[in-house]
Amino acid sequence: QRVPLIAGNWKMNLDHLQSIAFVQKLAWTLKDARHDFATAEVAVFPPFTDLRSVQTLVNADDLPIAFGGQDLSAHDSGAYTGEISGAFLKALDTKYVIVGHSERRQYHGETDADIAAKVAAAHRHGIVPIICVGETAEDLEQHGPSAVPVAQLRVALEGAATGSDIVVAYEPVWAIGSGLAATSEQAQQVCAALRGVVAEVLGDDVAEATRILYGGSVKASNIAGFMREADVDGALVGGASLLLEEFASIVRFQK
Ligand code: 13P
Repeated sequence: QRVPLIAGNWKMNLDHLQSIAFVQKLAWTLKDARHDFATAEVAVFPPFTDLRSVQTLVNADDLPIAFGGQDLSAHDSGAYTGEISGAFLKALDTKYVIVGHSERRQYHGETDADIAAKVAAAHRHGIVPIICVGETAEDLEQHGPSAVPVAQLRVALEGAATGSDIVVAYEPVWAIGSGLAATSEQAQQVCAALRGVVAEVLGDDVAEATRILYGGSVKASNIAGFMREADVDGALVGGASLLLEEFASIVRFQK
């Protein structure tokens, strides 16, 4: 049985002081609501400069909130100005790292091969990559719903180490930040196809255990619909993850 994962991708929002205040309030809000973390795991993805502060808070107060990076370098160390190594992320207790977000693909020219190398880097350092795939509106029109995300995932998984965990996030580019989420049926269709790719490359047992998230304009008002689908195991939330009450409601989608 897969434990759902509700992940908040903060993107380039909240500095290190704001991050501490937010995570503390989130933990209190969920505690007040008696959230059972066994029914939905919670993770936040702050900017790199916040991670040390979030780690310190989470460890000091023993908060049941996981955290991770929004990206990592494909390299482990060396002359790569501006890059962050998986080793550095691991040293800060990060459990996850987002890899291949469409904003990285779009604004930083990341290719499927780059993303495979980053998946490999995450696994070298014992970090679970959240591998993001998704089609643009143009892709959807030209190739239908699953073709592009399936092809992206197939290449990304070339970097996956056998026996290491992955999470997959299906984020249609047209649904990100647009207020226009996919329907739960659309999400289910593509997530099922992505699980098929995981089964093909890594085997049925891994596919059965792997969480596949939907992302793109997820809100408190639409999360329950996505979570009712058999192959949707959580959400990667952008804008709504910065709104405390809204994000807490998404985490508590069953209530
Ligand atoms: P929004 O939830 O703001 O659409 O962003 C989704 C996303 O890109 C999460 O990684």
